Amino acid sequence: MIQRTLISVSAMEAKALPNSTTKDKRKYCVTCGTLATQEVLFKVMDATLIERYCDKCVTNVNI
Ligand SMILES: [Zn+2]
Repeated sequence: MIQRTLISVSAMEAKALPNSTTKDKRKYCVTCGTLATQEVLFKVMDATLIERYCDKCVTNVNI
């Protein structure tokens, strides 16, 4: 398993609902698929990985 180190957890900006002419750029929780509210940065080897979680799932991320 690849070692990853938690760097930070930050709240995402609240996005307005997109209208029909704009692309939906909202992000969804990687665990449960609901709208993500938290952005979590990990360091994985030499790269930085961003994963997004909802409020509920982010509490399980502290690895
Ligand atoms: Zn979730």
